[in-house]
Amino acid sequence: MSDRIDHLLNETRRFAPPEALAGESATKAELYERAGEDRLGFWAEQARQLQWETPFTEVLDWQPPHAKWFHDGTLNVAVNCLDRHVEAGNGDRVALHWEGEPGDTRTLTFADMTAEVKRLANVLEGLGVKAGDRVAIYLPMLPEAVAAMLACARIGAVHTAVFGGFSPSNLRGRIDDAGATIVITTDGAWRKGKVFALKPTVDEALREPGHEVRNVLVVKRGENEIDWTPGRDIWYHEAMADASAEHAAQAFPAEHPLFILYTSGTTGNPKGILHTSAGYLTQTSFTHRHVFDLKPESDVFWCTADIGWVTGHSYVVYGPMANGTTQVMHEGTFDTPTPERPWQIIERYGVTIFYTAPTAIRTFMKLGRQHTQSSDLSSLRVLGTVGEPINPEAWMWYRDVVGGGTTPIVDTWWQTETGAIMISALASVTTLKPGSAQVPIPGISVDVVDESGTPVADGDGGLLVVSEPWPSMLRTIWGDDDRYRSTYWEKFGDVYFAGDGARKDEDGEIWLLGRVDDVMNVSGHRLSTAEIESSLVAHDGVAESAVVGATDATTGQAVVAFVILKQSASKEHSVEEAEQILRQHVSKDIGAIARPRQVFIVPDLPKTRSGKIMRRLLRDLAEGRALGDTTTLADQGVVDAIKQQFRGA
Ligand code: ATP
Ligand code: MG
Repeated sequence: MSDRIDHLLNETRRFAPPEALAGESATKAELYERAGEDRLGFWAEQARQLQWETPFTEVLDWQPPHAKWFHDGTLNVAVNCLDRHVEAGNGDRVALHWEGEPGDTRTLTFADMTAEVKRLANVLEGLGVKAGDRVAIYLPMLPEAVAAMLACARIGAVHTAVFGGFSPSNLRGRIDDAGATIVITTDGAWRKGKVFALKPTVDEALREPGHEVRNVLVVKRGENEIDWTPGRDIWYHEAMADASAEHAAQAFPAEHPLFILYTSGTTGNPKGILHTSAGYLTQTSFTHRHVFDLKPESDVFWCTADIGWVTGHSYVVYGPMANGTTQVMHEGTFDTPTPERPWQIIERYGVTIFYTAPTAIRTFMKLGRQHTQSSDLSSLRVLGTVGEPINPEAWMWYRDVVGGGTTPIVDTWWQTETGAIMISALASVTTLKPGSAQVPIPGISVDVVDESGTPVADGDGGLLVVSEPWPSMLRTIWGDDDRYRSTYWEKFGDVYFAGDGARKDEDGEIWLLGRVDDVMNVSGHRLSTAEIESSLVAHDGVAESAVVGATDATTGQAVVAFVILKQSASKEHSVEEAEQILRQHVSKDIGAIARPRQVFIVPDLPKTRSGKIMRRLLRDLAEGRALGDTTTLADQGVVDAIKQQFRGA
């Protein structure tokens, strides 16, 4: 891939960590040194930060592609996230500041959460749930969702959280695949100013026989009318009122399954990723502490991801709770009741660390900085992003407008499969490069290799791999170990193939270039989606863009761009003018080879429900094919609107 155009590498802005964090810097930098000397010893030290019932004696048992970490030790994950903090005298510390969409709020301390989880553990055991059984959690962002996950962990049940926006057939598919016997849901929850019903989706999902679900536990939130199946359906609050407040937690082996979670489905059919206990908790808590420079006594952390995605699992539930962190959690959307909502929440709770996705940042940019700047954001000291490559322009906007021009931004690369952050700056140590995830965290070995598996030279691009097993790695794909082997381990033997393209810069640091499936080959030149998209977004008039390669008779593949204009730009130019201007812009910025054959000005882009652009659907459109799997698409209407435009063109 060395003939690729080095556009992103023209990004030369650099930002040293702020003075205020300099004191931390030296001790944090030692982490790299320690991990470099003795990687397994380093992870063992991190694991010992947890509370073990039986200490482990062996760190890693690696029978490629299957790893066992700390496997002769035992612990209880929920005790580590809750009871331990109460016993240490921190029971009064707020665990969750929860904000309902209509403006109602709840505050739960670590003592409150511990009590809730103990009761719920008793409820689940009363319903016959045993260690190893699967429990489906179909809940939006309610404190009960966190409690449900931790209650499962407490009794050794395996949860599988399903994003609250999914349809009956999506939900049923996951219930069947996991073999869940209990579903925890809600009557409804607030979203965009209305109650959005969830219970009917569960009813519909369970209508056809053939599933193993015995009970549906229903949290009362929306107060909307719902159907009731006596004997099967149980109100959460009633069951909790009857349950004992005492619950003695049992320890489980380090490799006891913790959860199954389905990937976002950006590139195809979602995969049921299996994570286990101690290794996962070790790496989520370690990264949460060091990537964000967390101070559990004083920080207020807000990760905006839904708990239905891995980011919600690792950085709303397990990492922060294991670290005894005060968090903000919100119901509903950022723009309801007004686009000021996220900023008002930051001001209200004095949020110090804010972790969100590039798609949200680009939406904030499109709306304009006046909304952001209407609140006092001076409490913020570290910002983070995850989910997609962040274009340097969006990074700069995030730092300047949200971060007051001073906060470090950590761009964290990881996947459902990796369980925790793998490549990221450390807020107090790293000199930042906008648009780059930069360096593997201490204890993690990644590389960029060519098709034959040989590491590329600095300055070159290729395929991202993880070259050594890591504590929070997936253990398999649930029920399909063959797919586990063929998806991640067949290409390069004992090295994990991530499916993402990346480049090493002249310092050997890593820039993500997008999915391997999305790399384009134009007249023999390999171009990445991230580069051309970053060029388009750098243009004043562009809010967001997606680029795909479409089959072309002369060039093999041609660049086709889909662009959302900022409101100001759409007023100034006709569609034809805008297309011309943008084709020229890319040609001038990157080179003639990257000039899009077509630029389509569109009102919106197709995204997964976790907010990632689904380029494969745009490629299907651009090549005039029937669309592939659309079940994880957030909004079917977007594709229809783009299709209309295609017919017009
Ligand atoms: P599927 O595997 O079903 O196609 P998905 O890969 O979108 O879905 P996730 O596990 O939610 O499911 O997303 C992980 C992917 O997100 C990574 O492989 C990468 O492509 C992208 N990603 C995450 N963080 C970053 C980041 N900081 N920079 C660039 N890309 C990122
Ligand atoms: Mg993936």
